[in-house]
Amino acid sequence: MALVVQKYGGSSVSDAHSIKRVAKRIAATKRAGNDVVVVVSAMGDTTDELLDLAGQITPLPPQRELDILLTSGERISMSLLAMAITNLGVKAKSFTGQQAGLMTDAVHGRARLVDVVPHRIRETVEKGQVAIVAGFQGVSSTNDVTTLGRGGSDTTAVALAAGLDADVCEIYTDVDGVFTADPRIVPSARKIDRVTYEEMLELAASGAKVLALRAVEYARRYDVPVHVRSSFSSTTGTLVTGTHGDAIDPNAPAAEEETQMEAPIISGVAHDRSEAKITVVGVPDKPGTAARIFEVVAGTGANIDMIVQNVSAAHTGLTDISFTLPHADSPSTLAALNALQEELGFASLQYDDQIGKLSLVGAGMKSHPGVSARLFGALRDAGINIEMISTSEIRISVVTREDALDDAVRAIHTAFDLDSADGEAVVYAGSGR
Ligand code: ASP
Ligand code: MG
Repeated sequence: MALVVQKYGGSSVSDAHSIKRVAKRIAATKRAGNDVVVVVSAMGDTTDELLDLAGQITPLPPQRELDILLTSGERISMSLLAMAITNLGVKAKSFTGQQAGLMTDAVHGRARLVDVVPHRIRETVEKGQVAIVAGFQGVSSTNDVTTLGRGGSDTTAVALAAGLDADVCEIYTDVDGVFTADPRIVPSARKIDRVTYEEMLELAASGAKVLALRAVEYARRYDVPVHVRSSFSSTTGTLVTGTHGDAIDPNAPAAEEETQMEAPIISGVAHDRSEAKITVVGVPDKPGTAARIFEVVAGTGANIDMIVQNVSAAHTGLTDISFTLPHADSPSTLAALNALQEELGFASLQYDDQIGKLSLVGAGMKSHPGVSARLFGALRDAGINIEMISTSEIRISVVTREDALDDAVRAIHTAFDLDSADGEAVVYAGSGR
């Protein structure tokens, strides 16, 4: 008998009909002899709608109240799902994050898990019942309700799978798995059968929304195999597991070894529209300036991504420093930098929220020269200008104009021969919001 943790995203439970459909799938998994724990997201775009609603009350809602508000979305879906499963003759019980033992720190809006003590979940499963857990939420040591950040239900699922020592964590979504690019932009994108934790981390960190970054980090740390698949089909999805290199078992049959060695150079192209660029213009080029700028930026809690410093013009001794950060972090960062202008003596600040970022990810890049040249060449052929570049061992990212991003993703996808020969990828549901 296996213990399976299944997570259903918002688009899989967007209305009563979908909830009943998902309930059938859960009941079937249970009847097949498995122990089942389910994590559920809020219905459809509920979380965004609740955020909009709060925004209509006040531009800066208190984080504690916002967390209580947002967790109500998952409470609606968990209880409805428990009713639907019970209706099918299988016993089911729903639990909030707090009841399920998801203990977090007290950072509202992006709390981190500090402990998982799923006693009630284990008890429920041992009684032969299905446990449904509200995703994306936990409780702090001061007994305040917290949320784990957008897309946090994935993290809830992986954390419970680790805490319960489950055999697999299945993430059910509105596409058939992890694709070589977002099928909403590249219809010829191909499903990836297997991807390592490292590659999935880079893809998720670069904007691929199919799996939340923190869930991947957690899965890697606790070695939880994650199966990303569609709740609208029975197709096998993408298995996220293992590390490049450790996969080659000396006792494995030769055929398997060969597949490992022929692993593709590129696993996929991710894109991200959620970042903006700030340029500090005319900074004196002397030791300590960058340190001071980024001390101040760090003080705002902003999440810096790419950083570029120009060579200073010899006759002025001044330089420009640009960096990218999430739109949401921009207002506080701009305010903090403005306050620094007199001390540092820079000329001005420029803010640009019309940028897009594209990232090419693949562990095979390490050993293949010429990947960047091919990427830049493809963008040149498509007439797309590159504004910033950054790289890691297994990733190359470039910033373009936001309105050129979709074309850039398609051009790169084709240039690296990622286009599927057999038909278009299916997007079953969801607004992509
Ligand atoms: N409902 C939350 C969100 O939309 C959590 C999740 O879906 O994972 O971000
Ligand atoms: Mg959601």
